Amino acid sequence: MNRQKSFVDSKPTLFLVATPIGNMEDITFRAVKTLQEVDVIFCEDTRVSGKLLHRYEIKKPLKSYHDFNKEVGSKEILNHLQGGDNVALISDAGMPLISDPGYYVIQDVIHEGYHVVSIPGVSAVLTAISVSGLVPHPFLFYGFLDSKSTKRKQELQQLKHYPETLVFYESPHRIHKTIKDLYEVFGERKLTLARELTKKFEEVIRGTTKDMQEIDDIKGEMVLVVEGYQPSTEQPTTTILEDVQTYIKNGLSSKDAIKKVAKERNVPKNDVYMAYHQES
Ligand code: SAM
Repeated sequence: MNRQKSFVDSKPTLFLVATPIGNMEDITFRAVKTLQEVDVIFCEDTRVSGKLLHRYEIKKPLKSYHDFNKEVGSKEILNHLQGGDNVALISDAGMPLISDPGYYVIQDVIHEGYHVVSIPGVSAVLTAISVSGLVPHPFLFYGFLDSKSTKRKQELQQLKHYPETLVFYESPHRIHKTIKDLYEVFGERKLTLARELTKKFEEVIRGTTKDMQEIDDIKGEMVLVVEGYQPSTEQPTTTILEDVQTYIKNGLSSKDAIKKVAKERNVPKNDVYMAYHQES
C-alpha cells in the first residue's frame, strides 16, 4: 500500500501537467503557475512545447522524454527528484499518459517514494464525448486501434458486445478503413466523429457506422465515439430449439445451425447447444 498526501507531506514531486489540444488558450491558471514554479520540464518534442512555453513566458529548462527511451528518460527524471527538484511532465497535447508517454516514469517515481500529482486539463477523449450526443457514461476509452486491419478487426470483435460507449483515437490516413471495419464488425450503430476539436476547423459529424462509409478524405486529428452494444429488446417469437430445428430441416448440420442461431440471437454458442440438447 502506498498513501500519498500530496500537499501535506512535502516531497519532490512529478507534476503531470495538461496542455491544450489545439486552442492555446485551453490551459489552466494552475498549469501555467506549476510550469513557472517547477525546476525542470520534460516534454515529448521540445519544438512543440517550446512554443507553448514561449506563449506563456515560461522560462524553465526543457528536456525531452520518450517512452521508447524509457530507462534513460526515467533515470534523468529520478535524478532530478533525488536532487530535490520538482519536475513537470507534459506531452505534445492534452493529458500526459492518455495515449501519450508517461506511464513508465510514474511507475518508477511511485516506486522510489516521490509524489506524482496531476494538474488536470483538457483531453480529446472527454471533449469528444461531451459533444458526441451519445450516452456519456459508462464509457470505455480504448485509445488507438491497431494499424493493421486484421488485428484491428480482432480488437473490435472483442469489444463488440460491450454495452459502454466506446471511444477511439484515430489518425486521418486510416479513418476510412477503420469506419469500414467498425461497420463490418459492429453492424449499424450510432457514431460520432469529432475532428480538430477546439481549433478553427472543428467539426462534429454525427451519424451511423453505415452512413459514414462515404467519408473518405477527411483531415486533421480525430476521435471516434461509438454507441455501445444494445441487446435487441424485441422478444423472439420462436424458441431456440425451434430455430435450430428449422435450420437443420433446411439442410444445415446441427453444429452449423447452433452457430447460426447463437450469432443471430447474440448469445453464447454453448447456451444454444445446451438448449438444443436439453429440449430436443
Ligand atoms: N494526450 C492527448 C489527450 O489527452 O487527448 C492525446 C494524444 S494522442 C498521441 C493524439 C490523438 O488524440 C490524435 O490522433 C487524435 O485521435 C486525438 N486528438 C488530439 N487532439 C485532438 C483534437 N484537437 N481533436 C480531435 N482529436 C484530437
